[in-house]
Amino acid sequence: MRRKIVAGNWKMNTTVAEGVALAKELVAAMSQVPSDVNLVVAPPFVHLTSVGEAIKGSKIALSAQNCADQPKGAFTGEVAANMLAGIGCQYVILGHSERRQYYGETSATLVAKMALALENGLQPIYCVGEMKDERLDNKHFDVVKAQIEEVLFGLTPEQMGHVVIAYEPVWAIGTGLTATSEQAEEIHAFIRKLIADKFGKQIAEDCTILYGGSCKPSNAKELFACPDIDGGLIGGASLKAADFIAIAQSYTISDDALDGVSGGSKIIMPARD
Ligand code: PEP
Repeated sequence: MRRKIVAGNWKMNTTVAEGVALAKELVAAMSQVPSDVNLVVAPPFVHLTSVGEAIKGSKIALSAQNCADQPKGAFTGEVAANMLAGIGCQYVILGHSERRQYYGETSATLVAKMALALENGLQPIYCVGEMKDERLDNKHFDVVKAQIEEVLFGLTPEQMGHVVIAYEPVWAIGTGLTATSEQAEEIHAFIRKLIADKFGKQIAEDCTILYGGSCKPSNAKELFACPDIDGGLIGGASLKAADFIAIAQSYTISDDALDGVSGGSKIIMPARD
């Protein structure tokens, strides 16, 4: 079943105390979030237990930002998928562009992480997206296609049913630039078609595909109104409870209700340096 999901990727931000306070603010505001919208928070590893406690009993789900590509053993500094499942994580973000860019994650690594996440009952939020130059060279479809094929096409249809996809153009992440709703919808529809061609129409229809990249209260409504955009993976704006909640309300609320929440620049295409 396709779901409306708004997921907050806190990245390497907040102390445990700040993260717990943010989680509590979100819990307190949950009555303002439409019942069919699923909120997910992805704090740093060391926050997971405390934030998990803070959101217990609420409708907010817990996600990790990464997991190891090995099940256990001598891998210093790594955290295994079964450890995450064991402390109550329901989701894990995989293939975030920062992991690909700064930590050299390849499709081969991600295939291993994907398998371990699924084996342990975690729902992967699998990130794909092109770099600025790839967009400017009109290669974005090819890049996204390869990222989808290399990591998802080895899954069974049953496994694919548990995967959430996040399209995050790298040039839009943390830059204040946002894909236009037309640019985002075009790629989301393309991703859904790739999934349909490989796994069948029903699995593609049921697949939740999120947009990520400077999504905020001022642009979420337009993005979420697109037929193939089912929600957002939110970085910066997830660190302010009011903004995150306003984004979660963007499926339904009027423009007036957005007054007073922080906005940002709209689009457009990046320019070459
Ligand atoms: C992200 O890193 O997943 C992200 C979408 O970040 P931001 O919203 O800050 O662009």
